[in-house]
Amino acid sequence: MTNLQSRLATEIEARRGDLVTLTQELIRIPTLNPPGDNYREICDFLDLRLLRAGFHTQLIRAKGAPGDSDRYPRWNIVARREGARPGQCVHFNSHIDVVDVGRGWTVDPFGGLERDGKVYGRGACDMKGGLAASIVAAEAFLAVVPDWEGVIEISGTADEESGGFGGVAYLAEQGHFARVDHVIIPEPLNVDRICLGHRGVWWAEIETYGEIAHGSMPFLGDCAVRHMGAVLHEMEETLFPALARKRTDMPVVPDGAKQSTLNINSLHGGQEEIAKDSTGLPSPVVPDSARMVIDRRFLIEEKIDEVQQELNDVLERVKARRDGFSYDIREMHRVLPTMTERDAPVVTTVTEAIRATLGKEPDYVVSPGTYDQKHIDRIGRLKNCVAYGPGILDLAHKPDEYVGVDDMVASAQVMALSLLSLLGPPDNP
Ligand SMILES: [Zn+2]
Repeated sequence: MTNLQSRLATEIEARRGDLVTLTQELIRIPTLNPPGDNYREICDFLDLRLLRAGFHTQLIRAKGAPGDSDRYPRWNIVARREGARPGQCVHFNSHIDVVDVGRGWTVDPFGGLERDGKVYGRGACDMKGGLAASIVAAEAFLAVVPDWEGVIEISGTADEESGGFGGVAYLAEQGHFARVDHVIIPEPLNVDRICLGHRGVWWAEIETYGEIAHGSMPFLGDCAVRHMGAVLHEMEETLFPALARKRTDMPVVPDGAKQSTLNINSLHGGQEEIAKDSTGLPSPVVPDSARMVIDRRFLIEEKIDEVQQELNDVLERVKARRDGFSYDIREMHRVLPTMTERDAPVVTTVTEAIRATLGKEPDYVVSPGTYDQKHIDRIGRLKNCVAYGPGILDLAHKPDEYVGVDDMVASAQVMALSLLSLLGPPDNP
């Protein structure tokens, strides 16, 4: 390590206690999404902290964005601090929302318990630990390196877990990323891995139609559920095997996600489902509608048109051999795959910082599911973006979620060293 690098690493080590406390404080503000609780509270908390560190801050409500209401306003914070001279802008983006707690916890999900080198709680790894690490990294950098150029930005944004429309997408639409050069998203990808992007998503609803009739004489009607059964059968016979044969060159983890996948998210036909505690009987009718929601994840090598065509072909094949078969297909949601180049400046910078901090080469990965990078890429038109942060992705959304304190310290060191190489003065061994 160079002189400034090792001073930075030491400074962050000295702030280990502060990093733990900050993570605990963030966990103790339950920002559950849905519905979008306490966004204002956590933004106010971050506002105080970042003002103290010399940042200019802006609290931005995503007015009118999906999910925004007076009861559950979608608040975001963007903090900005300029160096002594103009230069590049490095932006750390973290989402402030967490998912539902679920069952199976042995500790208080909003207690922020620290035990055996881990901090526990909903959002500990996804991603309040990462947010805390980026703040401490920036504060340590400001303390150790007074003479720097460019801009450091830290944002805390709403609604990542529900698509990011009231968060990063909103900021991107306001042109916020136009003045940014590098983005690091401290999602829990592990201290020694750099996430370059994610696969694509295509959600659609398929509906098959039938004809209603008395259930005692189904021959007088036409059963939409049986038509849907034929669709499922065709998917099993042709579509699923075809998807399994498509392999990507993207370094997606885990390995199973290196192929194209399709999840059947839900399936419903006929009358409304009866409540579990109901003692009544449904009435006997032939279903005239069945609906299936599919969640198709696709590879950077696939075009969205091909993904759609493939499903249309399944439906047309069924139609060709089945009397009375009619259907509709409606797109619900789409996100194109994104992947930052391996030689993009932010990738090489974080790579060198990992080498200096951990003495090893990083792994480059791609996420099976999407995160806010999609909005930075598509709306913000900024490709130079990675996810890098502490914590193990597998623990996200689970009971007894935690983040390791050593991981937080190491990733804060990597983030601070990245700031140093992008914004710092020339450094001597
Ligand atoms: Zn996350």
